[in-house]
Amino acid sequence: MPAKLILGTEIREQILDEITKEVAEIKAKHGVVPGLVTILIGENPASISYVTLKIQTAHRVGFKEVQDSQPIDISEKDLLALIDKYNKDDSINGILVQLPLPKHINEKKVLNAIDPDKDVDGFHPVNVGRLMIGGSEVKYPPCTPAGIQELIVRSGVVTKGAEVVVVGRSNIVGKPIANMMLQKGPGANSTVTIVHTGTKDMASHCKRADILIVAAGVPDLVKPEWIKPGACVIDVGVNRVGEKVSEKTGKKIAILKGDVDFEAAKAIAGFITPVPGGVGPMTITMLMKNTLKSLKFKLGIA
Ligand code: NAP
Repeated sequence: MPAKLILGTEIREQILDEITKEVAEIKAKHGVVPGLVTILIGENPASISYVTLKIQTAHRVGFKEVQDSQPIDISEKDLLALIDKYNKDDSINGILVQLPLPKHINEKKVLNAIDPDKDVDGFHPVNVGRLMIGGSEVKYPPCTPAGIQELIVRSGVVTKGAEVVVVGRSNIVGKPIANMMLQKGPGANSTVTIVHTGTKDMASHCKRADILIVAAGVPDLVKPEWIKPGACVIDVGVNRVGEKVSEKTGKKIAILKGDVDFEAAKAIAGFITPVPGGVGPMTITMLMKNTLKSLKFKLGIA
């Protein structure tokens, strides 16, 4: 039997509906809505399209949304002052600085200047530490790993006692999702292995996985024979492997491929995410969830 598809496009809709409902309830009871500011430096077309999507999603769920566009030559000092202004702004619950930043600005310094209680991306060292401690310490799990966990849980995949193998150890995907899956609690409690370019026999580890999470950025890295029959395969990779003309718009668009040989893998796996349409739609969704959480923490109702 072919694998059940885990569709981020569908699960996103469920979660956004839940957020919209909760925002309306909070507005009726407390008279406030979550506030999200997106700071965009310069006019990088990819950054503009990400920010546009974030703004559209924030509107959809009923947030107050502020788009703050700054010129490419803004000084680091002025950007830090801007962040300080939003740190102090009571109507703002989440601050997002769209990356990449121009070369004259120290990215680490800027991200670390965001108040950890408004760091809805979950990249501030304080939030990374909270994630490592786990349990009630966790405020804002980083958005892509949080989306991966939601996909697994909402698909009914059992995580307690499962062998989870994560391919990749980046700070934004591999390390945090591995850490989240090993925590003692619902949606986790797994036995976790991380593999990377220093791993001796990657195939043997992957073959043990009940849940295989692949975030390497290498097309077709994971071969079908590495997949345990019935396993849940989460393919985080987004690789541009060519271009095609869109049937809808007639414009050239990228051909995207994941890190797993999808066609062959879906005959073996029990569950699998497609690329695109799997993990991708979850990141902005979880950003909305974190921003709502930030307001709930402030109101003491989280
Ligand atoms: P990254 O920072 O480049 O990290 C890739 C990791 O994979 C590294 O730890 C690397 O190992 C490991 N790796 C690379 N090639 C490998 C190989 N041949 N064998 C074993 N391990 C290998 O990438 P990332 O930011 O985590 O992103 C990974 C992929 O996910 C990318 O395709 C990215 O576009 C995608 N992504 C998607 C979303 C989304 O859908 N929302 C979000 C984030 C990322 P070493 O540490 O040993 O170098």
